[in-house]
Amino acid sequence: MLKQSNPFMKQANLIGGEWVAADSGETIDVVNPANGQVLGTVPKSGQAETARAIDAAQKAFESFRKTTALERSNMLRRLHAALMDNQDALAELLTLEQGKSLAEAKGEIGASAANVLWFAEEARRTYGDVIPSPWADRRVMVNKEPVGVVAAITPWNFPSSMLARKIAPAIAAGCTSVAKPAELTPYSGLAWGLLAEEAGIPPGVINIVTGTASEIGDELCANPLVRKITFTGSTRVGKLLLSKAAATVKKVSMELGGNAPFLVFDDADLDRAVEGAMVAKYRNSGQTCVCTNRFFVQAGVYDAFVEKLAKASSALKVGPGVEDGVQQGPLIDETALAKVEEFVTDATAKGGKVVVGGKRHALGGSFFEPTVIAEATPKMKFMKEEIFGPVAPVFRFETEEEAIALANDTDYGLACYFYTNDLRRAFRVMGELKYGMVGVNEGLITTPEAPFGGVKESGLGREGGHQGIEDYLDTKYVCIGGLGD
Ligand code: NAP
Repeated sequence: MLKQSNPFMKQANLIGGEWVAADSGETIDVVNPANGQVLGTVPKSGQAETARAIDAAQKAFESFRKTTALERSNMLRRLHAALMDNQDALAELLTLEQGKSLAEAKGEIGASAANVLWFAEEARRTYGDVIPSPWADRRVMVNKEPVGVVAAITPWNFPSSMLARKIAPAIAAGCTSVAKPAELTPYSGLAWGLLAEEAGIPPGVINIVTGTASEIGDELCANPLVRKITFTGSTRVGKLLLSKAAATVKKVSMELGGNAPFLVFDDADLDRAVEGAMVAKYRNSGQTCVCTNRFFVQAGVYDAFVEKLAKASSALKVGPGVEDGVQQGPLIDETALAKVEEFVTDATAKGGKVVVGGKRHALGGSFFEPTVIAEATPKMKFMKEEIFGPVAPVFRFETEEEAIALANDTDYGLACYFYTNDLRRAFRVMGELKYGMVGVNEGLITTPEAPFGGVKESGLGREGGHQGIEDYLDTKYVCIGGLGD
């Protein structure tokens, strides 16, 4: 049973170490997608509160940038401990506002903690260079310095871990930040404020503002004190932020939409492919940027793959995320549900065959049945658009060249997956796929140690890996002269 109140449910902005309401006193309701009940409210803030949060972050930056790498590493270690000590409560809050199963929510908090620990380690490795000088009397060196105030805007599908990937490298680098969580899932974002307090991170290093996205976003883009924008969300909003950030030439990192292909060749281990397909399709009810959007299966194993995938899909337990054993929660809201329905209608009108699922779930609300659609063709909507729901369209292909061409026929380039037991094919295909991340015989590849990010319209920059801290650092070249005899 759920507790009546969650210790991490904060219903206020965090600005300069103070928990405050919106200037207007106005609030926004936050709803549990599993039952439509209002969980609480958050401030409906706008330009003025955002500007104050930026000022607070700038003020904190003046001293925070002078802390040592070891001090910041230790702060992050304490933050990691705070996350792990409170994993259950944080997971419960996440499930309540986002809908995913408690098991997945716990996994997400674990992933947040893993990111924080990774950057606690990376904080101590922001090496510069000493370059062999072309002059006898001068020394040439390169230093790394924090960029300054960072604006972090995050989506609703991973409301904790998407912020972890931004806050942790920012702290590691010596930057301060202003975060704007998604309106639908603000509590897991605001919880970072409490966790930061528990970890002894100085006031003003993390500021969090909720409210009207366009007003907050415009101030974050226009304010010259903000030196970097890091965004995870849709390609549409990412493009908007890119154009607005241009006015003050900020650094930008963009983790945007995906359209992941999942290729299964005749020589693949079919059971392993289906196992990978299940996680690559149905995690978070299909609402992840790296979720498979299109399955391409070679003709020789097509029928067998569809049959196995349909069987596994129909066995998924759908229900409220807080219930024991549930594997598939609701979609985030009615709009998401209507969009998924539209994809199915479009596919069936164009000859697609619903093998399993295909409609709203009997549970009502925003629950949708895990769905497999056979005989998918490139004319169907999901060839080009992100489904963001539990629908698995399966396309048939004959040759490797055809599969690669189909997989690359998209404006996106985030994650892709393929299954083969032929080593030569594995190397050929991984080289041909125009994606930032490739899973070979694996359907779940995200880890803090590796660089996460896309090419083409899926984004700019990388989160995680040793690359993940680079965007939070400026490079300063120093030439020291007058060192001759
Ligand atoms: P979204 O609509 O782009 O929203 C993302 C964030 O941007 C939210 O905080 C939203 O605020 C904010 N936002 C909206 N309009 C804005 C504006 N004019 N100025 C500033 N901020 C603005 O995306 P979403 O629907 O939440 O998330 C789903 C998308 O994220 C999918 O496309 C998915 O593929 C992508 N995603 C990508 C990654 C990755 O790492 N590449 C990871 C996860 C998700 P409000 O919520 O208040 O509207």
